[in-house]
Amino acid sequence: MVGCVLLLAGAARADKIVLKNGRKIIAYNVVEDGDKIRYETSAGQLALPKSIVDHIERGGLMPGMGSPAAAAASLNLEPPEPAATANESEIDKGAVHDGSVDRNYINNLESGAAAGGEKAIRAARAHLAASRFEMAKGDLEHSLSDARAAVSYAPEDPTTLMELAYVYLRRSEFKQSLEYLERAKRYAPNSPDVYKLEGWTYYGLNRPDQAAAEWKKSLALRPDPEVQAALDKAVRDKAEEENYKENESAHFQLKYNGAAEPGLAREVLHTLEGHYQQIESELNFSPPDPIGVVLYTQEGFADITRAPGWVGALNDGRIRVPVQGLTGVDSELSRVLRHELTHSFIQQKTRGRAPTWIQEGVAQWMEGKRSDENAATLVQVYDAGQAASLAQLEGSWMRLPGPMASYAYAWALANIEYIVQTQGMGDVERILDRLAAGTPTEQALREVLHDDYADLMQATVGYLKKNYGR
Ligand SMILES: [Zn+2]
Repeated sequence: MVGCVLLLAGAARADKIVLKNGRKIIAYNVVEDGDKIRYETSAGQLALPKSIVDHIERGGLMPGMGSPAAAAASLNLEPPEPAATANESEIDKGAVHDGSVDRNYINNLESGAAAGGEKAIRAARAHLAASRFEMAKGDLEHSLSDARAAVSYAPEDPTTLMELAYVYLRRSEFKQSLEYLERAKRYAPNSPDVYKLEGWTYYGLNRPDQAAAEWKKSLALRPDPEVQAALDKAVRDKAEEENYKENESAHFQLKYNGAAEPGLAREVLHTLEGHYQQIESELNFSPPDPIGVVLYTQEGFADITRAPGWVGALNDGRIRVPVQGLTGVDSELSRVLRHELTHSFIQQKTRGRAPTWIQEGVAQWMEGKRSDENAATLVQVYDAGQAASLAQLEGSWMRLPGPMASYAYAWALANIEYIVQTQGMGDVERILDRLAAGTPTEQALREVLHDDYADLMQATVGYLKKNYGR
């Protein structure tokens, strides 16, 4: 899934999915969704047909997670953070104190800063402090706008450029990140941090060879256990990928393990091309980049899911599908492909800016799911004043407790279904266009639907009552 980031803070809770054939999958956020089990792993969001699942063991601890070795294996690379001078740490303290960003302080520093010079450097520093603070809170949206402001005041400062690149990395916006790293490199050609971050960028862009080359350069300039672990992982990934065969069609690059049926791979491509045409015309958009697809047979998939992987590799836009035991595309697999393909379209159309509820709402709509079975429950939850707000469903759903997560999917679908059924898919398209331009989601809704989040939920509940009520 797009937008899911696995946060490795201490020991993580995880569930175990036990399949009828005895295989066990360690996963986060396991949710029953109709005849499907959806779950998150380091490989992204995946789904299995419920028919092959024996049972789910809830709430175990992810084995080995939280240990220093596992943390290193997860390749969670830290941003460069140079020691501050006395002057700079005074600005840091002025910009962020008492648990919040002091916008007045920053505004004051900004007056006269547009002319450049010392004032601009101080304003840039204050925005960087704010950006780091927002990131630590998990607010990547504000972290990005502060980092961009910092670069506007200090466009030639390599540290500032790297910090902006780092925010883009955390947002899985790899191309933008690369652009700023290339700029930073012009002013700091011997910085090990630039190569460290570039390695991450290439890794996220599915170019493990280039990632390894960058990390080697970084290590030659400065030993760094994080980078060494990242390099080792890239080398292992490459070895794993070499066992995969490739297949291509007009819009897809498909990889599959040698053990998968070649006929299945061809059929998957054929199915995807059919879905592609339909989604293309519904969303009135053609993704410029080819879409990567990886089919996992049992062993390959278990290997991927066993180890907590690297968060940066999650949002690489590849569709990852377990196909164990399948010899052809059945209706279930076809729906999974359609759902996951929709995510790729939205990711590319909005440049990664769609909130999770829109991603999952449109993906479920496209796969053919409707709100009928959940309508009564949603109305009840809403009328009891217990519905989550759409603002709460914007970010990652990884940390929502199990029952909340299934509501999240149901609310996402219901809101999108309401928009499509009453206003038409054209409005969804217009909302996505605004998100692509950087408009915050609620504002995009106001511009297109003339509704804010609360209005939309209310209208959606009205729609559910009218269409599914007895
Ligand atoms: Zn999804």
